[in-house]
Amino acid sequence: MARILIVEDEAKIARFIELELTHEGYEVEKVADGRSGVEAALGGDYDLILLDVLLPQLNGMEVLRRIRRESDVPVIMLTARDAVMDKVAGLDAGADDYITKPFAIEELLARIRVTLKRREAMVGTRSVNPPEPDHHVITIKGVSLDVERHEVRVGDDPIELTNREFEVLKALMENRNVVMSRDRLVQLACGYDFVGETNIIDVYVRHLRSKIDDHHGVKLITTVRGVGYVIRED
Ligand code: CA
Repeated sequence: MARILIVEDEAKIARFIELELTHEGYEVEKVADGRSGVEAALGGDYDLILLDVLLPQLNGMEVLRRIRRESDVPVIMLTARDAVMDKVAGLDAGADDYITKPFAIEELLARIRVTLKRREAMVGTRSVNPPEPDHHVITIKGVSLDVERHEVRVGDDPIELTNREFEVLKALMENRNVVMSRDRLVQLACGYDFVGETNIIDVYVRHLRSKIDDHHGVKLITTVRGVGYVIRED
């Protein structure tokens, strides 16, 4: 059965989640501050980590960043705040999902199942289909995106993108000349089971524009008012 680490300083909540998860058959350990969270996450062999955002010593975002430097273990953030920016920041920093407190335990259990299943599927595909030697590169207006290498360049300049920014750009470039709705982009970039607001796409597009358009003087992504976004070929 999957092993889950809970990083949560509120003892009552941590204990409640622990009981529920144990009841579901998961193996559970918990720590109550950010520093112990990083240590446990990197030292233990966990299948998933539930990470609170507001923690003593190191906050959840910083914990996540430190975990991500070394590990791609699935992380679900527990956020008390409802601001879209917090969620975006968490996802950008490499969280797999987030859940806003207070949450129904059934919802948390569902998110855990989805995240574990998604991870299993990814690991499964990796071993069944080794990466193809040919690189699939899409180039539009001097911006090239290498799907297999996960690289974006403008001319020879590499552009640093987060995973989700890359996925949004890839969805737009693969569907060039097609106006993509925010819903569709969320599905392609964040997965069908993503339950957050679709306006996070606006945030990713803003990031992409500042990293690509503003820096390199190209006009790559066009806003189609009331519909979504499109990348048009010249
Ligand atoms: Ca807390």
